[in-house]
Amino acid sequence: MIDIKNIVTIQRNFFLKGNTLSVDFRLTQLNKLKLILKNNESMILDALHNDLRKSNFEGYETEFGIVLEELNYTIKHLKTWMQATKVKTQMAQFPAKCFTYPEPYGVTLIISPWNYPFQLSMAPLIGAIAAGNTVVLKPSNKSSNTSKVLTKLLEENFPKELISVVNGGRAANTSLLEQKFDYIFFTGSVPVGKIVMEAASKNLTPVTLELGGKSPCIVDETADLKLTAKRIVWGKFLNAGQTCVAPDYLYVHKSVKDELIKHLKRYIIKFYGKNPKESNDYPRIIDGKAFERLIDYLNCGKIAIGGDIDQDELYIEPTILDNITFEDKVMKDEIFGPILPVLEFESLNEVIATINERPKPLALYFFSSDEKNISRILQRTTSGGACINETIIHVASLYLPFGGVGESGMGKYHGASSFETFSHIKSVVKKDFSMDVPLRYPPFSSSKLSKLKKIFK
Ligand code: NAD
Repeated sequence: MIDIKNIVTIQRNFFLKGNTLSVDFRLTQLNKLKLILKNNESMILDALHNDLRKSNFEGYETEFGIVLEELNYTIKHLKTWMQATKVKTQMAQFPAKCFTYPEPYGVTLIISPWNYPFQLSMAPLIGAIAAGNTVVLKPSNKSSNTSKVLTKLLEENFPKELISVVNGGRAANTSLLEQKFDYIFFTGSVPVGKIVMEAASKNLTPVTLELGGKSPCIVDETADLKLTAKRIVWGKFLNAGQTCVAPDYLYVHKSVKDELIKHLKRYIIKFYGKNPKESNDYPRIIDGKAFERLIDYLNCGKIAIGGDIDQDELYIEPTILDNITFEDKVMKDEIFGPILPVLEFESLNEVIATINERPKPLALYFFSSDEKNISRILQRTTSGGACINETIIHVASLYLPFGGVGESGMGKYHGASSFETFSHIKSVVKKDFSMDVPLRYPPFSSSKLSKLKKIFK
């Protein structure tokens, strides 16, 4: 097995020699990465298809294109982000200049999941390299085709002192978490997030945890039901529901529930045809274990739409479950598949109370034309991010920091936030020897105290 301890040692030596510090070095790596990815686009899209049967459009839309955008934006702004920022100098530091400097942490560990295996490995890696760190990347062994491509491209083109890829299961994970890293960026489930944080605490290693959970999708009686249904069907069944920010469940006003379900059905057929199994645009479940877990949910409530399965193909039809309550099994854990339970409400107060008594979600979606209702939902609930009259797309903005809150995670990234996440902001006071204010030195006379009181009044 690969010697993980040795990898960390050689990366730390490389980092401590100052190799990663200059803007030129970082830009060279990022431009090289861009070229490699562009030259291997079809290999990457094929791997995504082989792992999850993602269409080339979906692979490009939700993975490859997003990574290219992230790269271009980072390359364009890196020089500015790396500059020191001058801040005000207060009386206590006078005379001096005060600055903040972003500096790299050192050796970072990035652990990524299988559902967007390319994007969720590369986007943090871009931030880490831009900020001047070295990277040990641990992709998921479930998305083995993408992991193989990532390993090949990164190992063939970058020295292992800068970027190493560690593949493997339990043993590799355990060994990785026994090492001392300077930063850990983890994307995955809540239970593994807890294991990662516990291991990190032994060395007081800072962490970003990009986790999951049940993201509610709320529809009130004032929403445009057709467009609402269209946007929900797109967001829920993208990647066959295996999206961390997928609408997990639909929480809809009683008076419009039946009509909304009718529109949802219409859009499922419009997007994927009468038999979605034959659609080239509809992905598959990652593996047999996930398939088994998901089909168990089909016994909950009443199937309003869908329900067809094919174990050999790991296919689950886009499915909507009606007559669901919060007591049902499907409402206990994150669904992470193409099954959408529908629950109904009568008042927004009920919705707010229900959301607030559950773990803080990664995303919250609210469909409404009523500005007062929109403000109430935004002010009275908390979630990692939110969309009003949309699903998912807040994740794709370079200008919106992405991350969870509470049980859905901590820390944020994308665009400038990625650079900030992988940088320690060092505060510096700089003086010279030309002048020294005597006030702070003993002995302390009463006149000194009154002067001090004037400064800190
Ligand atoms: P997971 O937690 O099972 O695995 C994530 C990664 O951790 C994989 O690389 C896996 O090999 C590794 N891992 C597993 N056990 C480990 C251990 N004991 N020690 C160290 N590493 C370990 O998650 P998953 O099934 O790959 O992904 C699904 C979950 O990820 C869902 O909960 C989803 O919501 C979440 N997710 C979150 C985001 C986000 O950005 N917030 C994005 C995608 C997925």
